[in-house]
Amino acid sequence: MSSEKSEAIVLRAVPWSETSFVVTLFTRHFGKVSAVAKGARRLRSPFESSLDLLAKSQIVFIQKSNDTLDLLTESKLIRRFRSAQISLLPLYCGYYVAELLLTVTEEHQQVADLFEMSDRTLMDIDAGKSPPEVVLRFEMQLLKLLGHLPTFHLCASCGNAVELQRNGEGTRLGIAAGGVLCPNCLPGQRFVLRIRNPTLGYLISYATADWDQEPEPIDSEYRGEMRFVMERFISNLADRRLRLTDFLEELQR
Ligand SMILES: [Zn+2]
Repeated sequence: MSSEKSEAIVLRAVPWSETSFVVTLFTRHFGKVSAVAKGARRLRSPFESSLDLLAKSQIVFIQKSNDTLDLLTESKLIRRFRSAQISLLPLYCGYYVAELLLTVTEEHQQVADLFEMSDRTLMDIDAGKSPPEVVLRFEMQLLKLLGHLPTFHLCASCGNAVELQRNGEGTRLGIAAGGVLCPNCLPGQRFVLRIRNPTLGYLISYATADWDQEPEPIDSEYRGEMRFVMERFISNLADRRLRLTDFLEELQR
């Protein structure tokens, strides 16, 4: 048993006993960690508000071996997630970030830059930055850091270069195949979307940008199509439709 220190973002708190929670934290150095926070449900909790959803806190926890849950021994609030006081959409975007991290990362899986990017995303949401761009940047960079970025230039099936259609036909995107498809590989493919070229342009721009870059503004005409594409890529990766998806319809406008 060793005592570890890290910054962490609170993803979830589930009642464990009359006085404790099991909290799931996304940490800077240890990936996702689930730990028992004893006394956290008491009126005068030793953790105070440091375990509120999406708070950023400095934590100390004891890593247990085998199947036993880790034990949270200290937690101090660094920053609150304040979007609840702004409006509903930023709040849902924050919850969506938490649901994504809960769903597509493994416990103790350390992914370089993912903590920093999640932290930056929550700060940008709190700062009132445009949600469609902040959310798309998070999704695309998450796919990239986890090694699940779709291919946008080479056919996801045969690897040949895919020419952009100039005749208004758009480009075929294979969700299960994991990227654009050439005409030869189209027959027999499942979950194929036809998207307009500007939408593909945005997807490429977000996929090639760095996580700490300011995101390119998305023209409202393409936001609906963009959400449609990303929802399907994320559902395919997660093997299910994320719960918060239903609360993010406003991102299409
Ligand atoms: Zn092909």
